[in-house]
Amino acid sequence: MSKEFFVDSDLCTGCNDCVKALPKHFVATDEDTAEVTSCDGADGAKVQQVMDACPGKAIKWKA
Ligand code: SF4
Repeated sequence: MSKEFFVDSDLCTGCNDCVKALPKHFVATDEDTAEVTSCDGADGAKVQQVMDACPGKAIKWKA
Protein backbone atom coordinates (compact mmCIF):
# COMPACT_ATOMS: atom_id res chain seq x y z
CA MET A 1 0.00 0.00 0.00
CA SER A 2 1.30 3.44 -0.88
CA LYS A 3 1.81 6.06 1.79
CA GLU A 4 -1.22 8.29 2.32
CA PHE A 5 -1.33 12.07 2.14
CA PHE A 6 -3.88 14.85 2.53
CA VAL A 7 -4.38 18.59 2.03
CA ASP A 8 -4.77 20.86 5.06
CA SER A 9 -7.42 23.19 3.63
CA ASP A 10 -6.53 25.94 6.14
CA LEU A 11 -3.08 26.20 4.54
CA CYS A 12 -4.04 25.66 0.89
CA THR A 13 -3.89 28.81 -1.28
CA GLY A 14 -5.87 27.24 -4.12
CA CYS A 15 -3.04 27.64 -6.63
CA ASN A 16 -3.96 24.28 -8.20
CA ASP A 17 -0.33 23.31 -8.84
CA CYS A 18 -0.92 19.91 -7.23
CA VAL A 19 -4.03 19.34 -9.35
CA LYS A 20 -2.07 20.10 -12.52
CA ALA A 21 0.90 17.97 -11.49
CA LEU A 22 -1.00 14.95 -10.17
CA PRO A 23 -4.57 15.03 -11.49
CA LYS A 24 -5.09 11.40 -10.51
CA HIS A 25 -4.66 12.28 -6.87
CA PHE A 26 -5.75 15.91 -6.39
CA VAL A 27 -8.89 17.79 -7.37
CA ALA A 28 -9.92 21.45 -7.02
CA THR A 29 -12.87 22.07 -4.70
CA ASP A 30 -15.63 24.68 -4.83
CA GLU A 31 -13.97 26.39 -1.86
CA ASP A 32 -10.87 27.35 -3.88
CA THR A 33 -8.75 24.70 -2.27
CA ALA A 34 -7.52 21.32 -3.39
CA GLU A 35 -8.21 17.95 -1.87
CA VAL A 36 -6.90 14.44 -2.27
CA THR A 37 -9.20 12.15 -4.25
CA SER A 38 -7.16 8.98 -3.86
CA CYS A 39 -3.69 8.04 -2.69
CA ASP A 40 -3.82 4.71 -4.54
CA GLY A 41 -0.81 4.03 -6.73
CA ALA A 42 0.85 7.37 -6.01
CA ASP A 43 4.54 7.78 -6.81
CA GLY A 44 5.94 8.84 -3.43
CA ALA A 45 8.82 10.79 -4.97
CA LYS A 46 6.46 12.82 -7.15
CA VAL A 47 4.13 13.46 -4.24
CA GLN A 48 7.13 14.66 -2.22
CA GLN A 49 8.09 17.05 -5.08
CA VAL A 50 4.57 18.50 -5.19
CA MET A 51 4.60 18.78 -1.40
CA ASP A 52 7.91 20.65 -1.44
CA ALA A 53 6.62 23.01 -4.17
CA CYS A 54 3.26 23.71 -2.51
CA PRO A 55 3.24 27.42 -1.61
CA GLY A 56 1.16 26.84 1.51
CA LYS A 57 3.03 23.71 2.62
CA ALA A 58 -0.49 22.34 2.81
CA ILE A 59 0.12 18.78 1.58
CA LYS A 60 1.10 16.41 4.36
CA TRP A 61 1.81 12.73 4.85
CA LYS A 62 -0.62 10.96 7.11
CA ALA A 63 1.12 9.88 10.29
S1 SF4 B 1 -0.20 23.03 -4.38
FE1 SF4 B 1 -0.71 23.39 -2.21
S2 SF4 B 1 -1.59 25.46 -2.12
FE2 SF4 B 1 -1.64 24.79 -4.28
S3 SF4 B 1 -3.70 23.91 -4.52
FE3 SF4 B 1 -2.28 22.21 -4.00
S4 SF4 B 1 -2.43 22.03 -1.76
FE4 SF4 B 1 -3.29 24.01 -2.32
